[in-house]
Amino acid sequence: MDLWVHLNFCIFIFISNQDTMSGKITKTRIFTFFLMAYVLIACTWWTFLLHKKNNENFAVNIALLKQTKIGDNSFNEATFHNTQAYLLIEKKFNSQRRMIIGEAMTFFIILSLGIWLVTKGIRKEVALARQQRNFLLSITHELKSPLAGIKLVLDTFKKRDLKKEQHTKLTSNALDDCDRLNELVNNLLLAAKIENEYNWQLEEINLANVVTNTVDSMKQKHPEVLFTSDMAVDLKPIKADINSIQSVVINLLENAVKYSDSSKEVNVELSQQKNNVMLNIADKGVGIPDQEKNKIFNKFYRIGNEDTRSTKGTGLGLFIVKSIVKAHNGSIFVKNNKPRGTIFQVSFPNS
Ligand code: ADP
Repeated sequence: MDLWVHLNFCIFIFISNQDTMSGKITKTRIFTFFLMAYVLIACTWWTFLLHKKNNENFAVNIALLKQTKIGDNSFNEATFHNTQAYLLIEKKFNSQRRMIIGEAMTFFIILSLGIWLVTKGIRKEVALARQQRNFLLSITHELKSPLAGIKLVLDTFKKRDLKKEQHTKLTSNALDDCDRLNELVNNLLLAAKIENEYNWQLEEINLANVVTNTVDSMKQKHPEVLFTSDMAVDLKPIKADINSIQSVVINLLENAVKYSDSSKEVNVELSQQKNNVMLNIADKGVGIPDQEKNKIFNKFYRIGNEDTRSTKGTGLGLFIVKSIVKAHNGSIFVKNNKPRGTIFQVSFPNS
């Protein structure tokens, strides 16, 4: 119990810090906008003043020149504008004007670029802060619920003498919770390893074996789901790290099940395409809106909001999948299934 209070306290402090952080980012954003707006207005004002000053200088210089020439008998107002002295003053005035406009435009372009970069950076930071907050909320839930389940089972064992079937049922529930925790910890470790240059253990593998074994264990784990598969027999081997490839298949299949609401049907296809092995995992679930398709591979990214979302998860699965696929020089695409649902298309080059 103490551990729980402590853990909750830590999480509370962490989340409060996240909130403070987003608050700080908002303040920084407002401050930056004011600063940029001030610099922009000041720049425009100084450009205007310099331009005005240049015009005044020109007028004064012309007036002075006229004064010196007026005593001269040869002074002629009509030809004054063609005199050497006038043209020299005009040339200087024009070059000053060009310089002011050029400098103002350069400054304006650089400043606009700066504003754009700062805004982009701040927007990224805000998104990351929101995703981290979501991740903390989800991970707390993901840790808490299986632990609570296991504790309940152990409490029941301690307090009651159960019949054999009840005992077996509760044990199997607790083992499911252990599996859930294990999966979560594996994903967290894998994500951390991938970020710190993972040492891939490459060997020649037959993807069909990995997929068949994973689908079999998924069938046992999710008897309510209809898994169908279609695997080509002429598959060439790929050079890959077997554990991480297993993670790719597990994460994609778990997602296909998790995001299938009413019609729980998952189809797995493996085919040989020129020098690539292609894995297609299709479900008939809720689907992914087009504008989210690029974002779902980002770390901690989950569609929707943690406060309202009902599915469990951490937003790490697809980040791990994409990182592994990339490390194996493969590619991953997501597209809509028909009439509804999602298809993840992964391809690995042959060894
Ligand atoms: P998690 O499932 O833990 O939230 P993932 O990184 O595996 O994290 O997935 C990111 C998001 O992509 C999910 O939150 C979900 O909204 C969406 N998603 C992933 N797979 C599917 C799928 N098969 N169908 C619909 N949405 C999906």
